[in-house]
Amino acid sequence: MAEILKGKPAADALNEKIVNEVNLLSKINIRPALAIVRVGSKPDDIAYERGAVKRCEKTGAAVRVITLPEDVSQNRLVEAIQKLNEDRSVHGILLLRPLPAHINDDLIRNTLAPEKDVDGITDGSLAGVFVGTDLGFPPCTPQACMEMLDYYGVEVKGKNVVVIGRSTVVGKPAAMMLTKRHGTVTICHTRTVDLPGVCRQAEILIAAAGKAKMVSKEYLSPGQIVIDVGINFTEDGSMCGDVDFDQAKEIVAAITPVPGGVGAVTTAVLVKHVVEAAKRQANV
Ligand code: NAD
Repeated sequence: MAEILKGKPAADALNEKIVNEVNLLSKINIRPALAIVRVGSKPDDIAYERGAVKRCEKTGAAVRVITLPEDVSQNRLVEAIQKLNEDRSVHGILLLRPLPAHINDDLIRNTLAPEKDVDGITDGSLAGVFVGTDLGFPPCTPQACMEMLDYYGVEVKGKNVVVIGRSTVVGKPAAMMLTKRHGTVTICHTRTVDLPGVCRQAEILIAAAGKAKMVSKEYLSPGQIVIDVGINFTEDGSMCGDVDFDQAKEIVAAITPVPGGVGAVTTAVLVKHVVEAAKRQANV
């Protein structure tokens, strides 16, 4: 039976550090502040926003939400972001995406000032991840995977690591972060030949494909550490990951559950980045 790597203890440990940092910053009159920009009212966006607002409130960081209508013009959205870039009382900006189809996503995400880009969506932040500089921030989800590995003491150095998924928001940055930690990393995607065979060779397997329970027993082997990033819904409406948890828990050494795994750590990482942004902007 696999060890279940829950997100909550990792998130709690991170929160404790964040609260300490927020308290220290308050002594020099700095209150880390996040601005969330939401276009329209998609239920997924509202759910994530609610989690982020709650997490900020719990840690003592300030948070405000800027909502714009679904049919907002591109210029109006650019103006709203530029205003936040210039606002010295705002340290981090979270832009909820995907944006409506009439908006140019590349243009908007790169309007954000990289130093306030706490969810790592700008080219500047991604360059930071790929080149290893401190420009911007890594995207929160792959960083949450790293926090889980750290919290549970999983050594990456020298390990054979397989990442399923090559998106800019999860798969690719996760692969870069794991390479930085000296893993030997294989990135898999829809055109990978013999995906189950490649995955079976992994000592650490990161599943970020967005396909409910696709990682079944033929992808798995004993001793593996499995980090399941997927957030999917079955026909009966219940949430599940990319990994068939019931099959996996009988085979692998350890696995993160869905819900209650990586997702539970993501908003804690977001607030950690807001605090870091506040410190960098104040040069402390
Ligand atoms: P995406 O759709 O942008 O990318 C999915 C990637 O998986 C693609 O590169 C694709 O090539 C690959 N893929 C898809 N089907 C595959 C298959 N059958 N075989 C091999 N590769 C396949 O998705 P994303 O934004 O990277 O998100 C991935 C998953 O992570 C989703 O379930 C998403 O909901 C979840 N997610 C979770 C969090 C969190 O906080 N836990 C945050 C963001 C995304």
